[in-house]
Amino acid sequence: MVQMSKELFEKIYTDVDCHYLLHPWGKGCITSLPVLFKDSLIGSVKFYSMVYLIQILMRGKKMRKKEQWLKMGNYYIRSILFGQFVAGTASIIGCIVRKLNGNKFKFNTFLFVPFTLNGLFIYLEPPSRRGLVINLFVNLYIEYWLRRLERAAYIKITKIRTTALFMLGSALLFYLMRLEGDKKERTQLFWLFTPDKVRRKTDDSNNVCPHQGSCHKYIFKGTATYFALGLAFTVARLILPRIRSPMTAIASLRTRHLKLAMFFGSYIGIYRAVICYLCRKRGCDSAIYALPAGCLAGLSFIFSPSLGIAIGAMTGAMKLYSTILYEKKLLPARLPLPELLYCICQGTLFSARVFYPEECPSYIFNLLAKVSNNRSEWIYSNYKLLLDKALEQS
Ligand SMILES: [Zn+2]
Ligand SMILES: [Zn+2]
Repeated sequence: MVQMSKELFEKIYTDVDCHYLLHPWGKGCITSLPVLFKDSLIGSVKFYSMVYLIQILMRGKKMRKKEQWLKMGNYYIRSILFGQFVAGTASIIGCIVRKLNGNKFKFNTFLFVPFTLNGLFIYLEPPSRRGLVINLFVNLYIEYWLRRLERAAYIKITKIRTTALFMLGSALLFYLMRLEGDKKERTQLFWLFTPDKVRRKTDDSNNVCPHQGSCHKYIFKGTATYFALGLAFTVARLILPRIRSPMTAIASLRTRHLKLAMFFGSYIGIYRAVICYLCRKRGCDSAIYALPAGCLAGLSFIFSPSLGIAIGAMTGAMKLYSTILYEKKLLPARLPLPELLYCICQGTLFSARVFYPEECPSYIFNLLAKVSNNRSEWIYSNYKLLLDKALEQS
């Protein structure tokens, strides 16, 4: 497939009418807005209902309190508005920018600029969720660029390299998490597991490890629990698409389906074993043990490597590190660095959906199509039609 470039784009699209590429469902820039807003609302409700349903299920017992439901309801509405405003305002911003450019489409102002600008709607998300959304987009952004670099033959993404990245990420992440252990307000982070706090030296306990009871039991329990969790994930993923025949789905379980369970189980098992070993050997606990423990635990990634998760470990560590920088006042507190970063990521990824579909993470396809109630697909097919025609002629 031909790679889209600035030159190619401007050769084909500069003089195309804005309704063809930005609002094919209506001729007028403004008159086509209400229907887009309506569809973005429908799409957003559908998308976020699923997201919140999963969150509520994951919170389990915590949801017994009425305040929790009120809080979730409030968050749910804010998330829907966020989705609706991003999807709903993109076309009109695109039209305005095109007008300012002398009624011409430019490579960067077609999608990147509108979606970078309306990324500011991220402020609609409640602060506690915002961090997670920004984290996700930064991960996808890095994944996208690594894939672009691989495509341009600058780098090669292999299983070994992905695992090495994950080992480094896990080591830093667990170390920073343990450093943060005693704080009241911990940085919001979505990770496989949270390591135990560092045990402070006290006289009333002979135990030097960060846990109660025997080391063997502690290591075995962690391994077994996470093995089961990995297995449950895999089974759910196998069964959910074939809900009518759960028995055949279970019967189709093979050893290769154990990969995720092996990864989860050994990840926690190795981590705990190394921590216990070092605590016993040195006679005291220290946050620094998480570096070798996390690194070795990262070896288990070889069972089930995925670039996205390896990047997630690294960015998680970076996020914790930035909290330290903010606290030490090395980063000015007024600078909304994460939100600005989000805008760039959103602009880049949403334009990549159209320009570089082969390198764009599949999550972005799904997100755009769902939240815009398939209107993004309409725009893409118009764009593709012109591209194919132009390529045929040349
Ligand atoms: Zn227009
Ligand atoms: Zn121990």
